[in-house]
Amino acid sequence: MFASSLPADTEDFEDILENPYYIPGYLSKVTLNVANTCNLHCEYCFADNGTYGRPPSLMSYRALEKVFSNLNERSIERIGIFSIFGGEPLSNRRLFAKIIALAEENLTVERFELVTNGTLLDNDVLDRYREHPVYVTVSIDGPEAIHDRLRGSGTHRKAMSALKKLREAAPQRVSVAATYTRYHEESGISRADLRQYLNSLEVPFEISAAKVPDKLSRLRPKSGISIKELQDSLDQALESLANGRRVSIPYYLRSILDGIVKSDSRSLSAVI
Ligand code: SF4
Repeated sequence: MFASSLPADTEDFEDILENPYYIPGYLSKVTLNVANTCNLHCEYCFADNGTYGRPPSLMSYRALEKVFSNLNERSIERIGIFSIFGGEPLSNRRLFAKIIALAEENLTVERFELVTNGTLLDNDVLDRYREHPVYVTVSIDGPEAIHDRLRGSGTHRKAMSALKKLREAAPQRVSVAATYTRYHEESGISRADLRQYLNSLEVPFEISAAKVPDKLSRLRPKSGISIKELQDSLDQALESLANGRRVSIPYYLRSILDGIVKSDSRSLSAVI
């Protein structure tokens, strides 16, 4: 536990306490930017290579202690999702084990979440992943040629290696996120092709279109989602659900499927 005498020099929690949905002792989600930096330079990065236009920095252990001290002072006992965020959060791998240790020492976390480019996974992170409720999303934009064009040479091989290790350690807690760009279109890779490729990875996945500032508009896909693609992805999601498989539901299908599942008096989130 922490000394309550640590200076609370932020008002971070005031808004939360005034929220009418506030449940004493519980936060549904906490997001920590542990690495305001990234080891990659993806062409479409909306976050200025993980820095959000600010000087690159890593969260210190002292700052982390202060976060937990603040939670402790506010009598937070339970957190739904503890999101370990960046930049590339594994640029600060050192802190990863400490976050989990401090969280488990001080409160209950239902799940930790991490989105990573997959190039910095090491055995220590893998051990924590195996032993704790850590959910990891690896960014993979498609086959090697397109992935490396967008994210840098050799990044696909590393991301696939990380995915394999995570899948072997705890297959039910790893997923993939892909960004669809105009480079995919120019390379003859349709959204359906990308979906087929990601299916072969045998983990839930989500595809989103590149959301880039105007200066990078050359990367925005020209085409939208066709009715046929919409039908295909709905068919695929329903088939997976019917077979009891885990599946990531594209955001544009969630409200439709949620209605279907609720009619069976179950929550979609309980299924996926
Ligand atoms: S891995 Fe993510 S944060 Fe890093 S440069 Fe690529 S898109 Fe940006």
